[in-house]
Formats: sequence, C-alpha cells, structure tokens
Amino acid sequence: MKNTGIFLILTALVLWIALLFGNTYKLTPEILLETASQEHADLLRPKLEDLFDQEHSNVFSFSSSIKNAITEVNKELDAEGKSDQKIYDTYELSLTKAAGDGLVSNNKGLLFGLVFSLLVLGALMFILPDLNLLPGIKNDGIFHHPGTSVKWLGIILGALLIIFYILLYFFPHFIANWIIVLDPLSNFMNGNKASQWFLYGFLYTIAVLVMGIRMLVKYRHSKYQMIRTGSVMFFQLIFAFMIPEILTKLNMPSADLKNMWPLDYSFFFDYRIDQKIEAGTLGIFMFVWGIILFAVGVPVLTYFYGKRWYCSWVCGCGGLAETLGDPFRQLSNKSLKAWKIERWMIHAVLVFAVIMTIGVIYTYMSGNSAIFGVIDTGTLRYYYGFAIGSIFSGVVGTGFYPLMGNRVWCRFGCPLAAYLGIVQRFKSRFRITTNGGQCISCGNCSTYCEQGIDVRWYAQRGQDIVRSSCVGCGVCSAVCPRGVLNLENGPEASRNI
Ligand code: SF4
Ligand code: SF4
Repeated sequence: MKNTGIFLILTALVLWIALLFGNTYKLTPEILLETASQEHADLLRPKLEDLFDQEHSNVFSFSSSIKNAITEVNKELDAEGKSDQKIYDTYELSLTKAAGDGLVSNNKGLLFGLVFSLLVLGALMFILPDLNLLPGIKNDGIFHHPGTSVKWLGIILGALLIIFYILLYFFPHFIANWIIVLDPLSNFMNGNKASQWFLYGFLYTIAVLVMGIRMLVKYRHSKYQMIRTGSVMFFQLIFAFMIPEILTKLNMPSADLKNMWPLDYSFFFDYRIDQKIEAGTLGIFMFVWGIILFAVGVPVLTYFYGKRWYCSWVCGCGGLAETLGDPFRQLSNKSLKAWKIERWMIHAVLVFAVIMTIGVIYTYMSGNSAIFGVIDTGTLRYYYGFAIGSIFSGVVGTGFYPLMGNRVWCRFGCPLAAYLGIVQRFKSRFRITTNGGQCISCGNCSTYCEQGIDVRWYAQRGQDIVRSSCVGCGVCSAVCPRGVLNLENGPEASRNI
C-alpha cells in the first residue's frame, strides 16, 4: 500500500510539472485592454505589438517578453522624469494567464481535481499503514535514510522546494498554468481569479493538513502532540486560509487575524493602514486587534505559557515546520557555534524590523520619505521585504528543511520568535523540568530538538531548560524513553536554572 501511495504521489507530481507546458498563448489588443488599465494598456501597446495575434507555445519566452516590455516602459518613464507613472502591476502574470488557451485553460476543474486527489490519496496511502506500527519514533537509523538526511533524496527535495519558492516570489508568470487551474476554487472562495498567493496559500494548507495527519498518526501516544497538531491544522485552515478569502469576497480587507507584527512586517505600511481606515469599523478593529496581539498578547500569554502558545500552537510558519518539516527536525545543528550565530542573527533581524517599522510610521505621519534626510524608508522597506520577507523566510526558511532542519527561519530569522524568546527567557513561568536520575543519556531528546538545543546536557544535570529559542514543541519529551522531560508552567522563582 505504501508503494502504491508513492506511485500516486509521483504521478501527481509529474502531472503537475507537465501542466506548465499544457497551454499555448496568444495575446490580442482586446486581452491587453481587458487586463490592464487604459493608461497602462496605452503605454504597453507599442512594446507588445510583436506579440499580438501570434500563437506561442513557450510560457517562459512569452511571459518574459511581457516582463521585458514593462521594464522598457518603466525605463522610458524614468528617463522622461515620469517615475510616478511607472507600472508596478504584475501584468506579466495576469496577461499570460489571460492569453493562455489549450488543455490547461479548458480543463481547469478536471486537472485540479485529478492532481490533488492523486496527491492526497497517495499521501494517505503512504501515511495510514503506520497505524499498524507502534507510535513514536523508531531508532532505525534516521541519519542513514536518503530522504531524511543530507543525502541524494534530501538534496533533491531541498532543491525542488528552493526552485518552487524562487518561481513563486520572483517568476510567478512562469507558473501561470498552476495558478490557472486554481481559478475555479479561488473564484468560489473570494470571487476573483487565482493569484500566486492564492496558489501558495492552498498548497501550504494542503501540506499542513496532510502532513498533520502524519503527525497525528506518528505521535498518537502523546496527548500534547495530538492537541497541538490539531491546533496548527485548525489555525492554518480557518484563520490563515479560509477567513482571509471570505473577507475578500465580502469586499473587506483581507487579514490573517493570528498573524502579527513583527512577523507580519508590512502591518504598519501606508497602504495597509489606509486600507483598514477605508474599511470602517471592521478595519479599525483589525488594526487595534493587531496592536493588542503583539503589545499585550505576547507578554501576557508568554508569561503564563512560554512562546509555545504561538510558535507551536498558532503560527503558520511553526505549523508548516511541525508538519511538513517534521521528517527533517533531526538535521538542526546542535553545536555551540550554531547557538552563537542564532542569537546574533535573530536579534539583528528584530532590530532591522523595528528600525524599518519606525521609518515607515515616520514617513506615514510626516510625509517625509527619509529619516534625518538620509535614510530612505522606501529603500529600508524594499530590502527588508526582499532579504527577510522573501529570501530568508521563504526560500531559505522552507527550502532548507531537508538541508538544515525544519526551523531554520524560526531559529535564525523570525523577529517575532526573537521577541517571544526574550520574554520567555526573562519573564515567564514556562520551563522544561528534567528528572536527571532517570536519564539514560540515549540522546533522543537532543537528536529530535528542532531548535538545536542539547536537551540531554540539561537532563544529565537535572537542570530545568529555560532557553529563549525553545518553541515548546514537546517532541523531546515525546521521544524520551524514560519520561525524564516535562513541559511545565509554574512559579517563576522556582525555575531551576
Ligand atoms: S527543547 Fe524540546 S520542546 Fe524545546 S524546542 Fe527542543 S524539542 Fe521542542
Ligand atoms: S532525557 Fe530522555 S531522551 Fe534525553 S538523553 Fe535522557 S533518557 Fe534520553
């Protein structure tokens, strides 16, 4: 049954990749006018004339030609001193989608159903037979398996994830056909055609749900793991995926109400503040709610429960890491050097996020685009979005699961994790207690700690674990054969550190 499952997953993947080549593209002046604003259509028309009414079979060259046309128009506008009229819309994607015709565009629903039913069925056929095995980890050479160590399969998986993120963030027009097959679902949920972010949200949710089932099967002996996994599946499906789409359909500002600044780094950006103000009472509520979450929710809930309340129960990044990323948790680096780098990097990102946010609020309030007339807040915003928002959290954060473990982003880059960690370390009731006398030094806890904490070191000394990076996933406790480790909340003063 497992082999059939793998066969179905591979079939779905091959089909999914084949979809990229399943359309032809013909741009017409009418499509340009329907897709772009009148002003942009007028600017683009002379540059796109060579493409008009010709059939193209190659999505890469076709969409690149549109991208080049936009770049040329923007260069000319810059040269004429009309930078304020530059085109920022991603017409290379919307025009490619609109110009598409053929197997994919004419069979969206069918192809969507086929690929994802094969994928989900195959995954379940691979996961569910494990119900016949004992729950928990198997000490059967996890570091020797090609898929869960940095060997050929792990490297291939990492490369595929990295390529996917690069296409998603920087070349979404190349994957226009994948986005096209999601149009019917997107239209049903939010009333619009699918964007690359709808595709991302859908794939993310499928990954959390399917791999969440795997977690439920694997750790079914642990009540903590069952409830925690159920929690991340719920928050991803309802809060991160469904509510924002429904809000869009109701013509309200879309928001993931569990996401918060500084992880949601654009929370204070001008266009988002304006959007909320324009939306009236609900928009104001969303704005105030976002501020209450990070200003009151984080200190209070982290004081009582540690950062686990967010990182391991609610957060979308944590949700993906704990489900899709679980097979790779043992790859986290446990060295002291990694711990040192981690502390420097994560706090540097937090400082960057704070400075960038102060800058954009200053610009919003004062109308000046530069702090002290020197630091351009737009540039700060751009570099944060590019380096941290796209490359670090996406390409590295998830693409490196099979290479560096499942919490690379949470451990080295997430500014919210840094903030939660400071509260957890210095003002919290949370700790992992260790019954040192029972420890047999097997090392399971350290091996499976995704945050690279050498848990055994603490257990051998009977010392409580109070580390700012501990996300309270509880897996160290779930894999300990001697019941040495307990995640507890208790009086602050009794933390044995
Ligand atoms: S110490 Fe335990 S609970 Fe904390 S992150 Fe590591 S495995 Fe998870
Ligand atoms: S605490 Fe448990 S899992 Fe960790 S080394 Fe000791 S016996 Fe092994």
